[in-house]
Amino acid sequence: MRMPTAEQANEKRISRSIEAYLQGERSCTTKWLKGVIGSDAPLANHLLLTRFSSYAGLPRYRELRATPMLPALQIICDHCDIRYEIRYRLALGANSSPSFFRCIDCGKNYQIPGEQFGAMRLNKSTGLWESIG
Ligand SMILES: [Zn+2]
Repeated sequence: MRMPTAEQANEKRISRSIEAYLQGERSCTTKWLKGVIGSDAPLANHLLLTRFSSYAGLPRYRELRATPMLPALQIICDHCDIRYEIRYRLALGANSSPSFFRCIDCGKNYQIPGEQFGAMRLNKSTGLWESIG
């Protein structure tokens, strides 16, 4: 028997949580599910669009879709080693169009899974996060 990888275990955890939510378990509120999903929003979105598409007409599915998430994505520019934290808007259960974040130093583009909402960079000399938009 092969051990599941960390990705598989995580996918299972998210899949089970979505299922419990869509099946109407009282303790599994929209807020709860969003807390469970966190930065795995792109994976959760993929699961909703594939494995759970038959639930799309349910009020709970629609409720999820109506309240976009703002997950964070860590990016370290592999060219200039700047560390970024990008927040982006993602509606769960809907097709989202990726956008690009541009490194402020070298201009290299990084794909983010939704529309950029805010960005911070880590200032190496001060050790503080600075808002850059
Ligand atoms: Zn760069």
